[in-house]
Amino acid sequence: MKPGFEAVIGLEIHVQLLTRSKMFCACRNQSGGAPNSHTCPICLGLPGALPALNEEAVRMALALGLAIGARIQPKSIFYRKQYFYPDLPKGYQITQGPVAVVEEGHVSIPGDPEVRGNADPVRIRIERAHLEEDAGKSNHELSTHASYVDLNRAGVPLLEIVGGPDLRSASEAWDYLKTLHRLVTFLGICDGNMEEGSFRCDANVSVRRAGEADFGTRVEVKNLNSFRYVKLAIEHEISRHIALLEQGQAFSQETRGWDAEKGETKPQRSKEAAMDYRFFPEPDLPALIILEEEISRVKKFLPELPQARQDRFTKDYGLTEYEAGMLLQSLAFGDYFEAVAKGSNGKQAANWMLGEVSRALNDTGKEIGALGLREAHLAELIQLVESGTINLNTAKEAVFPALMRDEGRPVQIIESQGLAQVSDRGAIETLVRGVIQAHPEQLARLKAGNEKLKGFFVGQVMKAGNGKVNPQLVNEILEAVLDE
Ligand code: ADP
Ligand code: MG
Ligand code: ZN
Repeated sequence: MKPGFEAVIGLEIHVQLLTRSKMFCACRNQSGGAPNSHTCPICLGLPGALPALNEEAVRMALALGLAIGARIQPKSIFYRKQYFYPDLPKGYQITQGPVAVVEEGHVSIPGDPEVRGNADPVRIRIERAHLEEDAGKSNHELSTHASYVDLNRAGVPLLEIVGGPDLRSASEAWDYLKTLHRLVTFLGICDGNMEEGSFRCDANVSVRRAGEADFGTRVEVKNLNSFRYVKLAIEHEISRHIALLEQGQAFSQETRGWDAEKGETKPQRSKEAAMDYRFFPEPDLPALIILEEEISRVKKFLPELPQARQDRFTKDYGLTEYEAGMLLQSLAFGDYFEAVAKGSNGKQAANWMLGEVSRALNDTGKEIGALGLREAHLAELIQLVESGTINLNTAKEAVFPALMRDEGRPVQIIESQGLAQVSDRGAIETLVRGVIQAHPEQLARLKAGNEKLKGFFVGQVMKAGNGKVNPQLVNEILEAVLDE
């Protein structure tokens, strides 16, 4: 951040809820499929069709509310937000009004030392989270100059999470977004797929001179569908605002879009051109009343929350905060790690997950569930290294790749390929003596005090033993022979 300026950022996140059916009708909530195949008179907005609220969507909103320590509103109502667009069949969107079902929660993120001077946790308020429905999709076919409307997404439940203006840099916005992404995916209320738009975000950005009490003029950058774009768009806006402020140029509140190709934002509409949505209470839906019993029930079924799990990982498995965070990069990755850790050793399981397994995921571009590596096999491999049956090198170079090809259990692979580690003292001693005899010059240098050559001798012995000898024993026996 340029000295003398402070950025203020607030994110609005749209979360597509993983309910079985849509928000106000029984149509399947599922992307894909033939256009307009998941539609009915209600989500098509045919005259006379009446909406009925999806209870599962409400429970998901409550789950999020409880997870962020929010106030659950005992009574909230739905409104109609009117605007015209071809993918909005009713001519209005049903959304919540001034009172949302979830109000005043918060999450914690590490502060950005660059703007705050330290990384102490900062509390980011969540002003509200309200339920609403998604619109359909317009597909524009450039070759024929035709546009097609697909209403499969019309009426899909959304939870809009409105964050407070508490973020101070693009990197804090990134951390906040990650925190919420992890939360909704761990709660199982959203698949978190940003590319497909099931988790998308608008970024509100303003800049003020350091020390000023009032916020600067804000712009809202709409529909950012990747973490990177969120970060880039915010950085771009911050520099643009600073340049304008420095030139003493006035500018007004507006909505902007992100041009990924150019890497910049561009104006969409000004505040003067802002639409009047003519909000009014939805007459076809009763008020949403939340009873205490319902809140207790959702609470009872709440899974372990990501931060609690991260803390438990550090305690139970002796991991650093960073390692635990990396292991919880997704729910599936965290579950996989725990299965391996339970069958072996937490620290070693973490090393394998963040080492070989992560490398395999990068190389193949797959998710952990599709890797074809069984938890039980990895656990067994770790145990075989621990017990000294094979050494770590053989485990990584020979057994792990064979497990990836699903060639059977580690014990079978070791047996059939003759990979077992040589721990026979006599055999190792013979190798050590042979290597020493073959390298008189290096031996002389070692005896003259060049300790680094010990590594050379260990390496030579390992090589002579086809990499299968026990390295600890090699070290031990080499010392003994040299001391003679
Ligand atoms: P709107 O309904 O026009 O989107 P809201 O008052 O609901 O406006 O604010 C939406 C978002 O804008 C919130 O996430 C809030 O934190 C953020 N916000 C409000 N004022 C500012 C500001 N001056 N700078 C940056 N973000 C802001
Ligand atoms: Mg907004
Ligand atoms: Zn429908």
